[in-house]
Amino acid sequence: MAVYAEVLVDLAARQVDRVFHYRVPPSLAGRVLVGSRVLVPFGRRRIEGYVVGFGHPPEDGIKLKEVLDLLDPGPLFTPHQLELARWMAAYYLCPTVKALQAMIWPLLRTAGPRKMRGLWPVPCPDRIPDVKRAPKSAAVWQVALARPGLTRGELALAAGVSPAVVDTLVARGLLRGEERVVQRDPCAGLPEIRHRPPALNPHQRRAVQEITGSLGLGERRLFLLHGVTGSGKTEVYLQCIAGALQQGLQAMMLLPEIALTPQMIDIFRGRFGRRVAVLHSRLSQGERYDEYQRLRAGEARVALGARSAVFAPLEKPGLIILDEEHEPSYKQEETPRYHARGVALRLAGLAGAVVVLGSATPSLESYARATAAGASYRLVELPERIGGRPLPRVKTIDMRQEIRAGNKSLFSRQLREAMTERLSRGEQIILFLNRRGFSTLVVCRECGLVLKCPHCDISLTFHSSGRMRCHYCHYSVLAPSLCPGCGGRYLAYLGAGTQKIEQEIRELFPDAGVMRLDGDTTARRGAHREIIEGFRRGGAGILIGTQMVAKGLDLPGVTLVGVIAADLSLFMPDFRASERTFQLLTQVAGRSGRGDREGEVLVQTYSPHHYAVTCAVNHDYQGFYRQEMTLRRSLGYPPFTHLCRILVSGRKEEEVQEAAAAIAGLIQGVDMLGPAPAPLTRIKDRYRWHLVLKSHAPAALRAAVKPALDFINRHSRWRKLVVSVDMDPQSM
Ligand code: ADP
Ligand code: ZN
Repeated sequence: MAVYAEVLVDLAARQVDRVFHYRVPPSLAGRVLVGSRVLVPFGRRRIEGYVVGFGHPPEDGIKLKEVLDLLDPGPLFTPHQLELARWMAAYYLCPTVKALQAMIWPLLRTAGPRKMRGLWPVPCPDRIPDVKRAPKSAAVWQVALARPGLTRGELALAAGVSPAVVDTLVARGLLRGEERVVQRDPCAGLPEIRHRPPALNPHQRRAVQEITGSLGLGERRLFLLHGVTGSGKTEVYLQCIAGALQQGLQAMMLLPEIALTPQMIDIFRGRFGRRVAVLHSRLSQGERYDEYQRLRAGEARVALGARSAVFAPLEKPGLIILDEEHEPSYKQEETPRYHARGVALRLAGLAGAVVVLGSATPSLESYARATAAGASYRLVELPERIGGRPLPRVKTIDMRQEIRAGNKSLFSRQLREAMTERLSRGEQIILFLNRRGFSTLVVCRECGLVLKCPHCDISLTFHSSGRMRCHYCHYSVLAPSLCPGCGGRYLAYLGAGTQKIEQEIRELFPDAGVMRLDGDTTARRGAHREIIEGFRRGGAGILIGTQMVAKGLDLPGVTLVGVIAADLSLFMPDFRASERTFQLLTQVAGRSGRGDREGEVLVQTYSPHHYAVTCAVNHDYQGFYRQEMTLRRSLGYPPFTHLCRILVSGRKEEEVQEAAAAIAGLIQGVDMLGPAPAPLTRIKDRYRWHLVLKSHAPAALRAAVKPALDFINRHSRWRKLVVSVDMDPQSM
């Protein structure tokens, strides 16, 4: 009896898993394996599918269709990944096929191996051209060895000879022209600076010993590495990874996208060379495909990347590190709405691996798990900065007093004085404002009209290019000179963004040199590296930026950090607003004084007495943790409960509201808030309503949501609506 491949395909419209059976043709027999990506006929289309098993067809006698093609050289998914996808489907309430796609989607999708036609050296020791007797041929030979696969013309050009010389080497059988698979190296051409590990300080040494001592035991071990900014966490990671490699294990190093700076990539490449594969969004599809394959084949041993690198196809994951584990960007905000930390913990369980969560400001969830009775994480602390450097002095500046003293500018007197002083000593400054663009609110002074996006319930941001943009849907329009409502001539530009800060700072400090690091200045590939490297070399005295300057940068020349408005994130309608503010302030303050000179931080705020601000100023993580936990307990928020958010969206508001009410009617056994309009009530022309469910047990949440989802999926009148389920939402 023949065996058939069980293939999962994406039935886009329906949120369900269904396995389809296909015959494996003799030409592919033995090559189609569990975990392979294949091309299959489906109706009149040919689509991609994933082989999840082999079995007998459900009904005898049916003539099954054949697998058309195999899309990769070997199985794309490891057995662990398939298992992980099943777990994600159950935990995050999504189809398994969506979880599998999430694993490859950011990495390759349409890409495949690159084949290149070129000339390849054929080693034959007795015929190698001699430098003295045949210098031109020898030159060609050297280039061909160093850069195999060049074309005839390229080779001649690189060796500085005529193409005829290349031809003679081909004629003598030293070069062979053929098509071969070549690897694209995203780091090609960048310097690889090998550096030796420094001697660890006692805290670091203890951390490395504890973590590496748990490697290779075949059971999951969890660590929370709580280290103040500048305490040398990265060095601990590097040495733990080295330990894992020594034991023949592979490692994963995850960072928030924003902290995955060229500087960080250089550090890892410097230590591990080509054993590191880098997976991040700035790579081309082809580069990602090749890095993925190098990991899959075990050629690369360390996967370095952002959130989705948790899906790196490691056969033997022994160590999984999440730096800045508290970062919201570890949560994917589209289906499947997974959290990389949750996936990492699960993977470690499957593979018997060690997980290290690192942060200067751990999430409340993780810190609770590391300190509560019966803690499941082991807490490892790095309480001091490297070299005994002090943490920077942080001072709040009460902006209400500035107004009273008649200073209406964005900059307090104290910040300006401190900047002048630092610049006069040749030191560098970072100014932080978490808002890009020039002005985030344009209002008519005559009729009060706010210029809004026509598709979203959001005000447009004015950019110095003269255009107004929606930061949600990318709608953009030329800024009007008159109010589109009343024709009034006086438009007020409120809510300063980084561009406005830049303009004013250039006027105040015309000789300082100013650079800006935000989503707008780094849109072009390579720009991020250029700005940071330029600033590091002293190309400017002042760096202005959004969260991009707050995270991960190690710039020893910076001795002053100015926070323009600490309150920005404090009053968001989100139960994590205080936590985010505390984390952001601590992170950005940590950029100051990392070199030999002592650092200073000035925090401008209208709420100088809020505990998120005062605790950040005093470097008091514990204090913040205690106060915030008290509040969360009294309100019944995580980590004391689990949340699940159901968001319904569609073009007709009545329909959305009706479906939300229908869902609410089906929910049982858990606490429920809503249904109510979501904080952003309309995005991209879709109205949004949500419900928030609360329970002490995640299983109870899933049990409550499932029937409601099935109901909505079955009812065709709501087909045009999108219902998304978010387990453990990071924000609301
Ligand atoms: P964190 O991530 O904890 O903020 P980093 O890992 O960026 O800190 O380390 C801060 C600086 O200290 C870096 O420049 C790093 O190279 C350096 N460093 C780390 N460990 C040591 C050590 N043991 N000896 C000397 N320098 C170190
Ligand atoms: Zn919009």
